[in-house]
Amino acid sequence: MQDPLPTIDSRFGARLTIDLAALAANWLDLAGRVAPAECAAVVKADAYGTRLERAVDALARVGARTFFVAHATEGLRVRGRAPAARVFVLNGLPPGFAADFAENDLAPVLGSVPEIEDWADAARMLGRPLACALHVDTGLNRLGLSLAEAAEIAADTRLTSALDVRVLITHLACADEPDHPATARQAERFAEARALFPQARFPGLAASIANSAGIFRDQALHADLVRPGAALYGGAVSTGEPSPMRPVVELEARVIQVRDVAAGDSVGYGAAEHVARPSRVAILSAGYADGYHRLASSSDDRPGGHVAFDGRRAPIVGRLSMDLMAVDVTDMPAVARGTPATLIGPGAALADIARAMGTIDYEVLTSLGRRYERVWREA
Ligand SMILES: *Cc1c(COP(=O)(O)O)cnc(C)c1O
Repeated sequence: MQDPLPTIDSRFGARLTIDLAALAANWLDLAGRVAPAECAAVVKADAYGTRLERAVDALARVGARTFFVAHATEGLRVRGRAPAARVFVLNGLPPGFAADFAENDLAPVLGSVPEIEDWADAARMLGRPLACALHVDTGLNRLGLSLAEAAEIAADTRLTSALDVRVLITHLACADEPDHPATARQAERFAEARALFPQARFPGLAASIANSAGIFRDQALHADLVRPGAALYGGAVSTGEPSPMRPVVELEARVIQVRDVAAGDSVGYGAAEHVARPSRVAILSAGYADGYHRLASSSDDRPGGHVAFDGRRAPIVGRLSMDLMAVDVTDMPAVARGTPATLIGPGAALADIARAMGTIDYEVLTSLGRRYERVWREA
């Protein structure tokens, strides 16, 4: 473990620490697992809440060369940090925007015929083939060409001569559930799609199937290029299992005051929870405005989430408020004004917190608030 950080800056209620060394180590771990396939990095949604620029710097330093984002604005931010990187835009090409993509060397992931036609038109206008990925839908029914559309595109030399198709991708629907039959079915359909784009006519075309979870399912899913997001940031890769990756994000909030609550009294808005015994309750300086979902509130009917002090769990008491939450520290006499509580980190694993909020770790990360003190730890 690294040296403990100084206490939370008193101007802030909470501190978010992002361990860039762990992020880099996670990428190297995944790259090692999939070699000789290439390991890209998905940095959409501000690199899953960790800050895109910082994540790209850390990942490029250890060798990441290919980045996936959702939108052009995110792509431009990657381009600003990693001028030589390949940048693919997953949400594709918005109407009338092809020249801007080409000018900034952003490669759209094209998943519909009109997008492909727009991109080919722009290429003809510029007089050079334009880099892109093609997205084939194999069962998720979200973005992507049907197999029939992919066959038409592949056979249309007028279109394909204008395109520099670098990657053929598909996206898995159920990769987080080991042995889910949908994954094998999708892989079969993808093999059919891949065969529509022979190496002779599409030299160097890479096949890409796996997100984070897909990497851990089956080596065949590694294909030529993998696209991990969540696993880089310490997310889980199998439903209900702890993450095999190093944690990247730690969230702490300060105890503002500790109060005694008499047995039978309620805590918080709505008097939703009453304490059964004489209790000590610590009030923490973070709430739902900090991205800590109100769904982790506790009530007489339903237990809520928990925080940790030195790895020991302290359950949330009553409803979470905008800027505050209450936790039970009756059995932790050392907890006092100024003590830091771990909201996400040792004793409060991301996956457990997500479950208490009725969601998944992806949403916890991408909902992280904007008003924390943010600290990035380098190697
Ligand atoms: C977001 C996304 C990924 C990354 O998924 P994780 O589960 O976070 O690894 C990969 N591919 C596509 C198409 C995506 O939209």
